[in-house]
Amino acid sequence: MKVTAGPTAPDGTPIDKEALRRKYLEERDKRLRADGNDQYVRLTGQLAHYLDDPYTPVTERAPKTDHVTVAFIGGGFAGLVTGARLKEAGVDDVRILDKAGDFGGTWYWNRYPGAQCDTASFVYMPLLEETGYMPSEKYAHAPEILEHCRRIGRHFGLYDNALFHTEVVDLEWDGSASRWIVRTNRGDAFTAQFVAMGTGPLHVPKLPGIPGIESFAGHSFHTSRWDYAYTGGDASGAPMDRLADKRVAIIGTGATSVQCVPHLARACKELYVFQRTPSSVDVRNNAPTDPEWFAQMATPGWQQRWLDNFTANQTGGHADEDLVMDGWTDLSRRIRSKIMALPREDLTPEKMMAAFEDSDFEKMEEIRSRIDSVVEDPETARGLKAWYRQLCKRPCFHDEYLDAYNEPGTHLVHTDGRGVERITATAVVAAGKEYEVDCIIYASGFEVGTEYTRRAGYDLTGRDGRKLSEHWAEGMRTKHGIHVHGFPNAFLVQPTQGANLISNVPHNLTESGRTIATIIKHALDNDVAEVEVTPEAEEEWVQLLLTGAGRMLGAPDCTPGYYNNEGRDPGPAARLNVGHPQGATAYFRYLDEWRSSGAFEGLELR
Ligand code: NDP
Repeated sequence: MKVTAGPTAPDGTPIDKEALRRKYLEERDKRLRADGNDQYVRLTGQLAHYLDDPYTPVTERAPKTDHVTVAFIGGGFAGLVTGARLKEAGVDDVRILDKAGDFGGTWYWNRYPGAQCDTASFVYMPLLEETGYMPSEKYAHAPEILEHCRRIGRHFGLYDNALFHTEVVDLEWDGSASRWIVRTNRGDAFTAQFVAMGTGPLHVPKLPGIPGIESFAGHSFHTSRWDYAYTGGDASGAPMDRLADKRVAIIGTGATSVQCVPHLARACKELYVFQRTPSSVDVRNNAPTDPEWFAQMATPGWQQRWLDNFTANQTGGHADEDLVMDGWTDLSRRIRSKIMALPREDLTPEKMMAAFEDSDFEKMEEIRSRIDSVVEDPETARGLKAWYRQLCKRPCFHDEYLDAYNEPGTHLVHTDGRGVERITATAVVAAGKEYEVDCIIYASGFEVGTEYTRRAGYDLTGRDGRKLSEHWAEGMRTKHGIHVHGFPNAFLVQPTQGANLISNVPHNLTESGRTIATIIKHALDNDVAEVEVTPEAEEEWVQLLLTGAGRMLGAPDCTPGYYNNEGRDPGPAARLNVGHPQGATAYFRYLDEWRSSGAFEGLELR
């Protein structure tokens, strides 16, 4: 019989699991608040200017009143990969619309200094093989990813018919003509035989509802609208030379803040980082791509092999090797090896969950002890330690974030879970102290957990006048996360109710895009006017989703955040925000067979 030892800290001392569990709960309790998601304010009215596009001027154009075969809402990865697959399939008449001034989606907006992908470029950046592009680094920086989005747009001719700085305000099904009427904030009212939507999960910036936020008389902006005119420098890393005499506050310490703090620390006279909850920050180990290695590795089909390998390593599929070798696959590998070390008779769900917890304790101890070895000031080091399980919040990976606190002008304002108390005309007040600043940067994230239609900015009116918000009143209902009954010729491109592979969102999108292109091509070739999932097939899929173990992220005993609806019970509807019960690898295999068979089981083609 194998003997399994308990978890140990990096110095070999045994971890007191009970004490750690207690500490995690104490820290969570400090942060629980009654207002949940309502603690954040929407950027409307006086705050609407925070949404202005600082990157591209808006140009006048005449409204569109024509007809297209496919309209795609969203010009990020979802629209680009679906557009590309449609073009490859010979469906030429594709119009992508976006509120931004160009393609790129999240990478259009997020140009803050240091922005970088957190998943290895070889699997994160879509269509590398099709466009013949080699990412310059293991974790590419934002300008390179934005340029890749533009490359996809050019390569597949997606610019020709695109409408930028255009927000869809209404989508209405016209059953008499079997087409959608698309209305926008630019006065467009055109029709489309098919619509697809890839509006992204995190694209509506939000601000914390801190008292006095509107009274601040200095400069302020949200990280997703970086004001380089104020800071100097640029997105590709030129130093922000206008901050040398500035006192700057950054509010928030999530994945965005972790990436831009090192740059601000180098540039500002004084930088105050206002922290409510620390992020877990593991090592990054970025490296430039060796072109010789890439040339040898990138044989036909290479990206699909990498995608399959990453996904298998992440979600329990079978893989003999780990091509990506990073923080994400390390996490899964550790969990797996703890479970594999269990004696055969202990392979019960409870013991496996306990092994998962042991592996998490060890990982988090490692992350916490790294802080002591990097950060010189012990008080700051203490404040930076995250007391929760690694997947309670978005795991971060960075090699300069912790060092930034060794800069003499950089100060962590650790509010011990309370957050910023107040903002005045000249200062940020936290932990009972007033910090006079010239500029406030809000690294306060994006709307999550609000209704899909609110985030999208429009509701869909489907067959017989039924609204998508009505259809989803009890929670999301789809087949494959793509098709919704009552909404013919409309497709969603997003992870939920499909693979739900959060560590590499583009993989979900590529597979959905390929599927949708196959269906549309088939419909066009066979004079099919309408494609719609049957109510039975939708229900069957929903029931299948409910057989799974439930949501992997968002445990109620986690520290509050957007993963767990800010610590509040999300209600029964959230039970449907899951993926295929057998995991991403199984789902992708199933979807491939489903679409390749050409039967499109569960869809009615009429
Ligand atoms: P987050 O929502 O993760 O972070 C918001 C931050 O604001 C949190 O630290 C939050 O604290 C803090 N905050 C909110 N209210 C207050 C307050 N009153 N006082 C002090 N602090 C406050 O947003 P991000 O933009 O950092 O990240 C959003 C997501 O975008 C990530 O989770 C990730 O999915 C994605 N992302 C991906 C990147 C990549 O792949 N490279 C890079 C950046 C982002 P608290 O934690 O206590 O709520």
